[in-house]
Amino acid sequence: MSLRVNIDGCVGCGVCMEICPEIFKLDDEEGKVVVISIDRDDKTRTLVNEAIESCPMGCIWRKKI
Ligand code: SF4
Repeated sequence: MSLRVNIDGCVGCGVCMEICPEIFKLDDEEGKVVVISIDRDDKTRTLVNEAIESCPMGCIWRKKI
């Protein structure tokens, strides 16, 4: 699974970054999220799932590759 973000939908609220800073970071120029890593372990996967559920714009999801 790969992690995807709909950048057009992201409002840069920071919720995902607060939940999982190992994976999500703010692009200071764009004011939108960037994915900086992949969720390699169960703990990070759980946090990413929480971030997916908490994104107010519903713009983070997993895609089968
Ligand atoms: S929670 Fe959603 S809208 Fe907020 S910064 Fe993350 S991806 Fe963007």
